[in-house]
Amino acid sequence: MSIIIGKDFFMNFCPICSSAEIIKTIPDGDNRERDVCQSCGEIFYVNPNIVTGVLPYNDQGEILLCKRSIEPRDGFWTLPAGFLENGESIQEGAERETLEEAKLNVSDVKLFTILSVPHINQIYTFFSGKIVNDDFGPTPESSEVKLFKVDEIPWEELAFPTVIKTLKIYLEHGDEKVFNEVLEYKR
Ligand SMILES: [Zn+2]
Repeated sequence: MSIIIGKDFFMNFCPICSSAEIIKTIPDGDNRERDVCQSCGEIFYVNPNIVTGVLPYNDQGEILLCKRSIEPRDGFWTLPAGFLENGESIQEGAERETLEEAKLNVSDVKLFTILSVPHINQIYTFFSGKIVNDDFGPTPESSEVKLFKVDEIPWEELAFPTVIKTLKIYLEHGDEKVFNEVLEYKR
């Protein structure tokens, strides 16, 4: 059964009743096409995913980045971030990802970037966070975890446009206000 649905995916069988009669149609009272099970009537809504992360900094003005050891963008540098799980707040998700990807705890956590990326149906939220422990390090998801001075940031080797944008906002404006931006996603 493939039940991942979205722009490039399709549903083979209804996860509710196992029927194969899934069609794309506009349900009554709706205004856009959905996958609808013709057998049990279930409507499968697809909504954007939220990615949440942290820009970790220290008192020396250095920023922590992780070198990805997983696809996509294996070998490129990123801020610790990942998909929000059900049942957690965006801040809890950001702190969890930071611990999972860099073995890092942060304090003074503050939201400063919300990026909508409609082209790939994703919302990114980034918090600034003060580095608490100095025994951070590699994890199954990150081959290296490293502090960078501002003039050492590897701009050409950053994994995602959202990470580049978030670093630029932070370096230009700090974290005193929240930036709400829309990114056209270009690879
Ligand atoms: Zn069904």
